[in-house]
Amino acid sequence: MMQVSNSLEKKELFSTNISQIRQTLKKWITNDELHWTEKLSDEVLMQELIQISQIQRFSQKWQADPELKKQLLIDSHQAVARYNLNINPEEIRVLWDKTHTQKENQADSISLSLKNYRNLINDEVRQAYEIQRIAGSSIEPSYKAWRERQMTRAASELNQLPQTLPEIHFPIAFELSKGCSVGCWFCGVSAPRLGDIFIYNQENARLWREVLELMKEILGPAAGTGFCYCASDPFDNPDYEKFCDDFHAILGIFPPTTTAQPLKNPDRTRFLLKLSLEKGCILNRFSILSLKMLDQVCNEFSSEELAFVDFVLQNKEADIPKSYSGRAREHNHRKAEKSQEILNNTLAGSTACVSGFLFNMVDRSVKLISPCNADERWPLGYRVYEKGTFTNADDLKILLKRMINTHMPLTLRPNDRISFRRDLKYENLPDGFQVSTKFHKHKFQNASYIRQLGEVIYKGDKTAEEIALLFNVCGIPSATIYHFLNLIFEHGVLDDEPKM
Ligand code: SF4
Repeated sequence: MMQVSNSLEKKELFSTNISQIRQTLKKWITNDELHWTEKLSDEVLMQELIQISQIQRFSQKWQADPELKKQLLIDSHQAVARYNLNINPEEIRVLWDKTHTQKENQADSISLSLKNYRNLINDEVRQAYEIQRIAGSSIEPSYKAWRERQMTRAASELNQLPQTLPEIHFPIAFELSKGCSVGCWFCGVSAPRLGDIFIYNQENARLWREVLELMKEILGPAAGTGFCYCASDPFDNPDYEKFCDDFHAILGIFPPTTTAQPLKNPDRTRFLLKLSLEKGCILNRFSILSLKMLDQVCNEFSSEELAFVDFVLQNKEADIPKSYSGRAREHNHRKAEKSQEILNNTLAGSTACVSGFLFNMVDRSVKLISPCNADERWPLGYRVYEKGTFTNADDLKILLKRMINTHMPLTLRPNDRISFRRDLKYENLPDGFQVSTKFHKHKFQNASYIRQLGEVIYKGDKTAEEIALLFNVCGIPSATIYHFLNLIFEHGVLDDEPKM
């Protein structure tokens, strides 16, 4: 099996893999356009990647540290020298100087490296969109429709933070340990202190592969868009790479990694990045917890070694808005109590990104979850529809099938109680009604019965069958009422929150 080499040359990741890099970047292009890497010879491409990685490093430090932003505006060359950035700041002025004029921003005045830096970012975005497409292609129609409803609901319920990558709603995630050793104060899922670890021994490896096979059988290729951490850090598990390797072998996609411990064993980090790139994954991330850690990471890894790594800037100076779930929520509550401020739950948000099955392999448990605003009931920013445990793939299959049958109807069932989500504000319209959140408005109108129907749903005390009968008495066919109810069901505005 694989071993982490102690002597990985720092630049090996980059210099020995140029054709792999070319292939990896091209893989996610879905149309016939000439990929930017094809225009460049191996040697030029390698040089370009080095330049690009230096621009990327500049950009990461610039976003992380307001002091660099200030210094650039005073003396740009001195600033980059002070921050150990190997770059001519004037060639990339467009990235850091907002006063740079429109004309200077025009494509022909931008250096080749800057263009290619943007091409690389576009490649990452394309890969993320392709992952999103595959995640939505489940062969299980009930899960597919349920996930789409959850995505529609979440889009109107949650305060979306600005980001370049799409909201994916991953179908599965696996925790390979109990808890996490990092203990971030802001942990959105309140990961407990690190406990047991799911070691890659014979018994666990067999169970792992059987679970992956089962997920492939149930969800199809969509299962390949999962990942192997949640309230856990990948590098807490000494066998993480082996689990990822199986994941890739069975599900066809190498899972992306986000770790807050890239410095724990730098050679291991290098090995994982190399493996990940070889298997076609360019969506890896380091969580940067402080400016000191940023410096340490930049000292340990050359910019080119991290050409395919994004930084999640969690340091306070970066001032990037956080969702207030988990420990960040508790922290916020303590602060608000001191200042007697009243917190608005509708802005709490969530760091959760799974609408599907969250496994913990240590205790052999699985939860059906979906992101929601963190509140009293769901402090971790996700709803739990059901949870259960399993001992082997056979009883897991029974458990998952039951969860799908119970929680994921394709259409409303006659005895479903019909009401709107609790976060929606209801308003009558002359010919219908609207339900809205701070972020989204859903209008339903243009038929004589819709306003009355809205009022009945708003009361929330009738089943689908009772509503259909009520309108049937007034001459509106039950099929018409069911059709409308199913339409708003698909829009994700009906309450499907798990009952207490
Ligand atoms: S945010 Fe991530 S690294 Fe930090 S404690 Fe939570 S799970 Fe661990």
